[in-house]
Amino acid sequence: MALHQGSLAILENNVGVSDAVLLDPVSEDAFIENLKLRYQHNQIYTYIGTVVVSVNPYKTTPLYTPSIIEEYRSRNIYELPPHIYAITDEAYRSMRDRHLDQCIIISGESGAGKTEASKVIMQYVAEVSGKGENIDTVKEQLLQSNPVLEAFGNAKTNKNDNSSRFGKYMDIEFDFKGDPIGGVITNYLLEKSRVAVQMAGERNFHIFYQLLQGAKLSTLESLKLTREINDYNILKSSGSGDVATMNDQENFDTVMHGMEVIGFTSDEVTSLFQLIGSILKLGNIEFSHRSNDDGTDGCDLSNTSALDDAAALLGCSSANLSLALTQRSVEVRGEKVKRDLSVNDGMYARDALCKALYSRMFSWLVARINDSIKVTSGSRTEVMGVLDIYGFEVFEQNSFEQFIINYCNEKLQQIFIELTLKEEQEEYIKEGIEWIHIEYFNNSVICDLIEKSNVGILALLDEECLRPGNATDLTFLEKLNQACQNHPHYESKALKKCQNDKTLSHGTFRLKHYAGNVTYKVDGFLDKNNDLLFRHLSQAMYQCKHCLMKGLFPEGNPSEKSLKRPATAGSQFKISVTELMKNLLSKNPNYIRCVKPNNLKAADNFDENLVRFQVRYLGLMENVRVKRAGYAFRQVYFQFLYRYKMLAGPTWPRWGGKPQEGVKILLEVQGVPQDEYAFGKTKLFIRNPKTLFDMEEKRRQH
Ligand code: ADP
Ligand code: MG
Repeated sequence: MALHQGSLAILENNVGVSDAVLLDPVSEDAFIENLKLRYQHNQIYTYIGTVVVSVNPYKTTPLYTPSIIEEYRSRNIYELPPHIYAITDEAYRSMRDRHLDQCIIISGESGAGKTEASKVIMQYVAEVSGKGENIDTVKEQLLQSNPVLEAFGNAKTNKNDNSSRFGKYMDIEFDFKGDPIGGVITNYLLEKSRVAVQMAGERNFHIFYQLLQGAKLSTLESLKLTREINDYNILKSSGSGDVATMNDQENFDTVMHGMEVIGFTSDEVTSLFQLIGSILKLGNIEFSHRSNDDGTDGCDLSNTSALDDAAALLGCSSANLSLALTQRSVEVRGEKVKRDLSVNDGMYARDALCKALYSRMFSWLVARINDSIKVTSGSRTEVMGVLDIYGFEVFEQNSFEQFIINYCNEKLQQIFIELTLKEEQEEYIKEGIEWIHIEYFNNSVICDLIEKSNVGILALLDEECLRPGNATDLTFLEKLNQACQNHPHYESKALKKCQNDKTLSHGTFRLKHYAGNVTYKVDGFLDKNNDLLFRHLSQAMYQCKHCLMKGLFPEGNPSEKSLKRPATAGSQFKISVTELMKNLLSKNPNYIRCVKPNNLKAADNFDENLVRFQVRYLGLMENVRVKRAGYAFRQVYFQFLYRYKMLAGPTWPRWGGKPQEGVKILLEVQGVPQDEYAFGKTKLFIRNPKTLFDMEEKRRQH
């Protein structure tokens, strides 16, 4: 450590500045130019204070070797070039030695490198924490949860070959020595619509392909499956079975190994695969139209072998499954009667069932992993949480999912700014420096617009979902228009203020998010928020003999008298986001902001415009501004003196007084104006980066 005292890697790194707080002048252009320059020199990490900005290199870099881990171990954050290891080390030590729970919040758009960053963190923590038989088992289980969850929760999309289709928060729990003893995973909003349909060029969840490609033939036979991807409607429709960057066969082995390490029994693995198989079979069921004698429409199943196979895998009779997919029970004047479903309704029921089966199976999987990794021995004393969650999303068409995801990001931005300001303020107070008020954009006004009880958009949506009568997506929009017409962050074509706005069309509303404007199409909002599975489908599933069904469809229990509606998707999400924020706020936050350099998944390609959008969506300039508003640079006296004392003349290496006094003389000799710096209790604060660069320059010439 002593060896490095006084060295300042952030100044010596010679490609651009390694801390954007030192940019001079500070502007969006300069910020992006700096990222680009560093990226071109394979310096993918850049700080904003203690925040790490990471630009996805899309190529293997020598950044994660054991010797680099060794280098970063127990070093101060500014001693070495920016790295995820540096802030992870800082977080880890502050947790272990000062008993401050930590969280690391990773954000960025799809393909920016969030999931890889979370793995880099876990790898580092596993490497630098204690060793021993029990500890190693825990570490191995925690690490193996990644490939298992990725198999079931990730898919190839057009943006990322291994795109996480769920949000993930993981608490790693440690004992008082700082050794990991367990963990808890929370998942958010799996994109279940993917089970039934995918966009052209995308795939279903990896596990489907892995199972078909990787399992032994005998296993497939027992599941009534074939290797052929094109035998399955829910896999073949998007026409993209193979992914060049991915080996489904090998990955299957990795997943099997992972499940074994975590402690899945072979029965559990079999029941998971039975469900995967049943979903594949259900997806093959087709419907044909039938005209009933009484003039109503009905439907028949036209592919009975798929039906039989699905029923066998689920453990129910074909007749019951068939009825569940072609009829529904409705209540007419207090009496239950069966109604036939139309072909369209039948397909809807089939897809809803596939989605429900898959997403509930996924939740079961997470719960099962948690069961294995939960802390059993000793008591947990310290926690490090890692949040890998979808960033702000703006597509050509934005729907309920984007609305929910952007709401979550709005909340994350809120605590980000709050905590950055708070951290700054606390340091000023600790150092006895006068706090200067910092103007910033407070996005709580948008958070309120979305989540406020009774009057927020989520509440209005719930109200419309529960309203008896003919509520539709459009009546929901009318309700919004009325309630939010005067809100500065809400716009819609129906409002006077937007009548001439050609960029708005009917059936949409626009929110002015902190990151920019997003227009949401209301189509499907009610349905997705309701998220109701026909009751008789839940009941049919509950009756199945498959061992997981009772747990996955508890509401199908016929003795379950209460007909209480389950919470809507929106309100469930609001509850989990609120819990997440509370959890994050109780910890010391660390940030990794991931940036995607291009849309081609290509190395050595920096698309400035694409990056500019992300810099805005991530609120990075606001971050730089807040950090820069007071004093851009600060350093403990001793280190500062050590670095620059040579500028003060030949006798200086022997300065024997207090470091702070030495610094004072040093600055005076250099002629630095007095309002350029302030003396804190332990640190020198410098207002303008230029002052520092001038001294660096003189030092170089010396
Ligand atoms: P996200 O989770 O943000 O959607 P991922 O972490 O899955 O994105 O990254 C997408 C892909 O980009 C990865 O599969 C990998 O190929 C590449 N990648 C991401 N981060 C790195 C990195 N630090 N080094 C090398 N390649 C990376
Ligand atoms: Mg991901």
